Amino acid sequence: MDNKSKTLELVQSKDSYYDPATNWDYWSTSLYKDFELCEAAALAKLKGQWEPKSSPVALLVGNYLHSYFESMESHDSFIEKNQASILAKSGKNKGNPKAEFRQADDMITALKDDDFFNAVYQGDKEVPVIGQIGGLDWKGKLDCLNVDKGYFVDLKTVDDIHKRHWDDVNKRWVSFIEDREYVLQMAVYRELLRQEYGKDFEAFIFAVSKQDQPDKCAIRFEPFRYEEALEEVPNKVKHFEDVKNGVIAPTNCGTCEYCRMTKELSGFIEVADLID
Ligand SMILES: [Zn+2]
Repeated sequence: MDNKSKTLELVQSKDSYYDPATNWDYWSTSLYKDFELCEAAALAKLKGQWEPKSSPVALLVGNYLHSYFESMESHDSFIEKNQASILAKSGKNKGNPKAEFRQADDMITALKDDDFFNAVYQGDKEVPVIGQIGGLDWKGKLDCLNVDKGYFVDLKTVDDIHKRHWDDVNKRWVSFIEDREYVLQMAVYRELLRQEYGKDFEAFIFAVSKQDQPDKCAIRFEPFRYEEALEEVPNKVKHFEDVKNGVIAPTNCGTCEYCRMTKELSGFIEVADLID
């Protein structure tokens, strides 16, 4: 088996979909977003030279919730595998789930007791999908895919569903959906599904908040948003592919964690350039 077929096998398996080795052969929306934010940081991360200081608990909470809605077996095995991170090691709560996971249980309850959510969240769970955009291979993984009815669903956890985020490129306030480029993610999944099944799918997002009493929302998209989101992807990803392969040198954003870490002063800037 050649390397490419080995990677294909990894990508198509539920368990090894996230294997970092696949990121060299397949684009994903998360890798694409990394390169959009900062090419230098994305490349360093891809090469294993640098790892962002992420909050491991926040990531685990998201996976904890996802595993519940995948299946009972997945949830049980997730809890068993991550017991050391889920249970508090000290304090009055010692031996019981940490506050973040008790809150995650409230978030799960907010969705699982909702009739509308249960009616929609029907289909295959954690489905890998592959295809091509901009002449390059892409991979995606769907939380829930309903092929017969032609839609897919993604679950998102967020601090506050209605919080406003400043979009500095377009100088306007946007929702967390646009801030995190979820329209792009849905548009990519939709395109990969179109290639695989030969028809158009509709994307839905169920968002649940990390507030004391979790908020929830079912979100749909007007079709023009998919097209808008995909418009610049083919050209941009070709450029990112060249950066990935060392054909073009990566640019530094100058302000991210990686750029701050590797920064060396070489002169002065005028005060007006500070917030540009
Ligand atoms: Zn940077």
